[in-house]
Amino acid sequence: MSETVIRAVRGDITEITDVDAIVNAANESLLGGGGVDGAIHRAAGPKLLEECRTLHGCPTGEAKITGAYGLPCKYVIHTPGPVWRGGSHRERELLASCYGSCLKLAVENGVRRIAFPSISTGVYHFPVEEAAGIAVAVVRRFVSEHPGKLELAEWVLFDDRTWQIYRKAIDKRTGKS
Ligand code: ADP
Repeated sequence: MSETVIRAVRGDITEITDVDAIVNAANESLLGGGGVDGAIHRAAGPKLLEECRTLHGCPTGEAKITGAYGLPCKYVIHTPGPVWRGGSHRERELLASCYGSCLKLAVENGVRRIAFPSISTGVYHFPVEEAAGIAVAVVRRFVSEHPGKLELAEWVLFDDRTWQIYRKAIDKRTGKS
């Protein structure tokens, strides 16, 4: 059984062609927004919004799956991340729950290759170092508990700083310098 590749790449998540699903850092309405959410809806086209309307929103920390329409993958997994409000409002637990919910939905739908954005670290202001540590820990634990289910779990990071931070978080946990 081959090991799951866990990595961070720099790029635009709407342009990733070699995954089955991309994750959308959505809001609870699931009706679109700014940042990566806006970019995903623009690239997918209006049919994505039409399907999202049938879902009646999603609580923070949970996830829902849709088709990907004009995007070059099969599914979009939508998860509303927590808004950072100082760290004492279950933000860490909720962010971990986002990743866990996305991964669970992914394997239930036969997704073997999945790409995440940096959930909550844009307009939701979750500190990036901490978000990256939580994200990598949850993905690693899931992979070890579900051997053989995923070929690839990656983050696609838009800006250089965020990319470097996720790379470091991944390297730390693989024992690289
Ligand atoms: P949130 O509301 O969860 O904080 P944002 O969309 O504001 O979500 O930001 C999350 C991250 O997504 C930020 O690091 C932002 O730079 C990044 N981002 C924005 N557009 C894209 C894109 N097209 N591909 C990948 N990442 C993106």
